[in-house]
Amino acid sequence: MEEKQALLRALPKVDDLLRRLSTVTADMPGQVVKRVVQEQIDLCRHAILDGNPSEVGVPGITDRILTALGQVLQCHLRGVINATGVILHTNLGRARLSDEAMETLTAAATGYSNLEYDLESGERGSRYAHVEALLTEITGAEAALVVNNNAAAVYLILDTLAKGTEVIVSRGELVEIGGSFRVPNIMAHSGCKLVEVGTTNKTHPADYANAIKDETGALLKVHTSNYRIVGFTQEVPLTQLWEIGQENRLPVIYDLGSGLLAQLEDYGIRTEPTVAECVPYADVLCFSGDKLLGGPQAGIIVGSKALVDRMKKNHLLRALRIDKLTLAALEYTLRQYLDPDNAVKSIPTLRMITSPVSEMEAKAKMLISLLEARPDVHYSIMDTLSQIGGGSLPDVTLASCAVGILSDRLSANAMEERLRMGNPPVIARVSQDSVLLDMRTVDGNEIPTLAACLNHISKT
Ligand SMILES: *Cc1c(COP(=O)(O)O)cnc(C)c1O
Repeated sequence: MEEKQALLRALPKVDDLLRRLSTVTADMPGQVVKRVVQEQIDLCRHAILDGNPSEVGVPGITDRILTALGQVLQCHLRGVINATGVILHTNLGRARLSDEAMETLTAAATGYSNLEYDLESGERGSRYAHVEALLTEITGAEAALVVNNNAAAVYLILDTLAKGTEVIVSRGELVEIGGSFRVPNIMAHSGCKLVEVGTTNKTHPADYANAIKDETGALLKVHTSNYRIVGFTQEVPLTQLWEIGQENRLPVIYDLGSGLLAQLEDYGIRTEPTVAECVPYADVLCFSGDKLLGGPQAGIIVGSKALVDRMKKNHLLRALRIDKLTLAALEYTLRQYLDPDNAVKSIPTLRMITSPVSEMEAKAKMLISLLEARPDVHYSIMDTLSQIGGGSLPDVTLASCAVGILSDRLSANAMEERLRMGNPPVIARVSQDSVLLDMRTVDGNEIPTLAACLNHISKT
């Protein structure tokens, strides 16, 4: 008891610590420094009261304060090195933008722009006009509109075209996409009644035809982006659904999910139809801006002018509207598609998908050349498979090259955690006893930083 009292009395005072740390913390916000100092003293006090003062002892308190301040004051949203080989990793921010797209974004962010100003008439303009012509040119659709993300696009489409009606969708397409986008929930919010037809693995044209009645407002097709039903399956192809729609005067809505704008077949990637190939067989189509398209987060709607015009008049659009920074980066990225070969070379997502194994091998060799030799850590170049991710092209795996790390001291999971907690954080895969760093998603100019992270963890 007395010992505890003595220890408590010996706890440093806030003001003393603030004075002791004043030179290092001079440029930090005083209020935050004071709070962190107080918190660290409280931690010591609790440790004493709990009977284990050595666990959070007074001697190390200034170091702990500085570490805590470092954590509190650094941005919470941070850049990481993606060494997972998953190109469109939803948790790591999906598509990365090119430097050039970033320049247009920066210009829109730091200056004024003609966002909603028509330079010719000197009157109010539309923010949607900046990309509509580009989208109609690239996809062949009559009209286009962009919103905040693809979930918002689906919402706006259903709210505009099918509120209060029944919408028929195949049971095999009732997908849940990462970030809890559930087709049935979106339907419920937009006030339409979902009518599921077929079974999970099979849907026939007659299933749609039989479900159509006076209350039916639309036929919806959803790309089963993140899974494949294989084996005994049948889905109604878009062209056939289009015929059913035509016969019954019902709009066909196609949620493409990823929305491929350029053919990748010349690069040995077995793809699916491009948006332009689907446009003739749907009244309205929508897809994400930050999946295969390789742009910023956005939801893109293309389709018949009459229907898109109705969406432009929907008041909901105001709540789902795209912001100017996104719009700037999206316009730049779309412009790159005017020359598809150039798009594949210059849009980072497409470049990563199509880059040959030799490039990954070269990056792996460069990384290894920068690593300090240590007797207890073994580095090797390994074959691996990268994924496209983001629910895109789930059938496609890409042969790649990884740097494998095996440590005599640390388990693969311990190494993975240290890399993840590092600065910058490195996100890697664990495979058996090794940590794998897939070079496909690591940019050449990130290699020196990655090497520094690896050298740091193998020392500690
Ligand atoms: C990814 C995806 C969505 C959601 O798109 P966000 O841009 O993330 O909102 C919707 N539908 C399908 C089929 C998808 O693949």
